[in-house]
Amino acid sequence: MSERVKYQILNTIASYRDDILDFTKALVAIRTENPPGTSYQTCIETIASKLREIELDYTILEVPNATEQITEASNHDRGLYPRYCLLSFHGEGERTLYFHGHYDVVPASSEAQFLPYVKDGNLFGRGASDMKSGLAAMIYAVKAIKECGIDLDGRIGLTIIPDEETGGVLGSLYLVEVGLLGKDGIGMLTPEPTSGVIWNANRGAISLRVTVKGKPAHVGLHYQGVNAFERMLVVANALLELKAEVESRRTDFKIEPEAARRSILLIGGRCEGGTNFNLVPSECSFTVDRRINPEEDLETEKGRLLTLFDKLRRDGIDLDVEIFQEGESAGFSEEDPVAQALAESVQTITGESPSFEMCPGLLEIRFYAQQGIPAFAYGPGLLSVSHGPNEFVKIEDIYTCTAIYALTAIRLLTS
Ligand SMILES: [Zn+2]
Repeated sequence: MSERVKYQILNTIASYRDDILDFTKALVAIRTENPPGTSYQTCIETIASKLREIELDYTILEVPNATEQITEASNHDRGLYPRYCLLSFHGEGERTLYFHGHYDVVPASSEAQFLPYVKDGNLFGRGASDMKSGLAAMIYAVKAIKECGIDLDGRIGLTIIPDEETGGVLGSLYLVEVGLLGKDGIGMLTPEPTSGVIWNANRGAISLRVTVKGKPAHVGLHYQGVNAFERMLVVANALLELKAEVESRRTDFKIEPEAARRSILLIGGRCEGGTNFNLVPSECSFTVDRRINPEEDLETEKGRLLTLFDKLRRDGIDLDVEIFQEGESAGFSEEDPVAQALAESVQTITGESPSFEMCPGLLEIRFYAQQGIPAFAYGPGLLSVSHGPNEFVKIEDIYTCTAIYALTAIRLLTS
């Protein structure tokens, strides 16, 4: 990239600073809390009106509620809460670099989180960090490229989706279903709050609840009952054996500290059972959260868990298993050209070469990974404050990211 193009882009983005902040504030003020997914229509209209202002064409897709998959996956009546995905492209040709972001936020800790305010160079509010500032940065990066008249060999595709915070069934997975996620993609960037590093991998997840059943009886007639708690201990002990083996596996992707490299089996994050001290408990349940490393296979690991439960059933323990979350792991090489273009752009703008790390949670890069599209997360926010009561983003970092996204796209889409 020529110095002339670089300075033209940086100067243009510098002239947008107030607008970028105002737009981020406007997005933060919209209560897109998920669950259950409120104010989505207002939010998507606000984004669409910004795209009209920039003179970018877009398509809004309302996710139909009727499909079997959606009905099965719903925990509550989603019919009351419409879902919208937005796609917009700038440039010509097939090769597409995707800027992918979600507009839902986790529920606020207080109403005040929807009244964004600036203090000491930081913007506070729900979604300031995860990831409404990132959405603004992506959109203004496209605006800068467009207004600078830079010829692209290919397109930038904005994919703006809901429901990331609840697994993506009615967001990204809907786009997968209709063949519109990552179409003709050469790469994807998503502005998750990465705290200055690039996430090139994420763990997968299988989260479930085991309910062990017994038979109630008063303590004096205990011999007539079946103690669900005692049976649950047998189940928990079998899981502890599996846990010891699971934890001996370590990922080669980077994550700090060393203990974080281990594959994960968390037992009893939530447990419930019994009704009173003098009654034989008739039911006990607890959760199991299995987080797999990128080197592990979701189906294999799920199979091992289910086989264990089947064996316990054959041994006479009455139990139910309810899987409430499943997500694939993903991982891409630091040497991938998209990773390199992003890292070089971070270096150009911040003066420091970013490190690559594995994200400890799920990331939507997994949906692109399934299509063989290299995908990476890098955004203005901080993981440590996202989802918390004092969520904020350093305002300077929003501008920095806007420039980084623009330069990355130029590196990948011009010769
Ligand atoms: Zn997020």
